[in-house]
Amino acid sequence: MIKDNLSQVRARIDAICSKLNKNPAEVTLVCVTKESSIPQILEAAQSGITDIGENRIQDAWDKFDLVSQKATLKWHMIGHLQTNKVRQALKIFDMIHSVDSLRLAQELSKEAQKINKNIDILIQVNSSGEKTKFGIKPQDTTRLINDIANLKSVSARGLMTIAPLVDDPEKTRPFFRSLRVLRDRIADEFKGSPQVKMDYLSMGMSQDFEVALEEGSNMLRIGSLIFKKN
Ligand SMILES: *Cc1c(COP(=O)(O)O)cnc(C)c1O
Repeated sequence: MIKDNLSQVRARIDAICSKLNKNPAEVTLVCVTKESSIPQILEAAQSGITDIGENRIQDAWDKFDLVSQKATLKWHMIGHLQTNKVRQALKIFDMIHSVDSLRLAQELSKEAQKINKNIDILIQVNSSGEKTKFGIKPQDTTRLINDIANLKSVSARGLMTIAPLVDDPEKTRPFFRSLRVLRDRIADEFKGSPQVKMDYLSMGMSQDFEVALEEGSNMLRIGSLIFKKN
């Protein structure tokens, strides 16, 4: 079932990519496993999933050892991260999508340095301005990245956003588009910086990934479409 769901998702990604003349291999599909069991995660891995996303440290922690014994995956932290959970996060995750303050970036750098690691991060931008959402304001993003560029053990690899939940996915388009514009501008500004490489745009979930792809996403975070029961 997971296998079938996944082929359907991939077919939809391929269709958009072919329309855009884009190579689907350049789009990373992060399978969001926050509501999934260990057997389900392993089934997804057997069906070709290489990247998974969790939004709570505790849940990821509970699954990490058992999953890692059986499948080598890239782990993405997609939820809000508190500074006191940074050390734990660094043991699990290959990429943190939710950095939205200098304090968090500094803590990540400090703890990563202690264990001789360099951690890839994305800056979470609150592109819709909703009060309930985490993320830095679009207009403050460049300054944050400028500060992060001075940190030793983090690499800024791009931007992430969560679009508002709307009835019509088309309504998410302006938020995705503005994130892409912002990313392009920052990429230009930081060209040549060793710690800033704006190559990822993490946007698009089950509801809105097709619109996100059309607007330049190359990292999709999809959960419910993959794990839904048929
Ligand atoms: C849950 C979650 C997703 C996946 O959402 P689906 O609608 O299940 O595809 C993506 N991104 C974040 C940050 C999430 O918390």
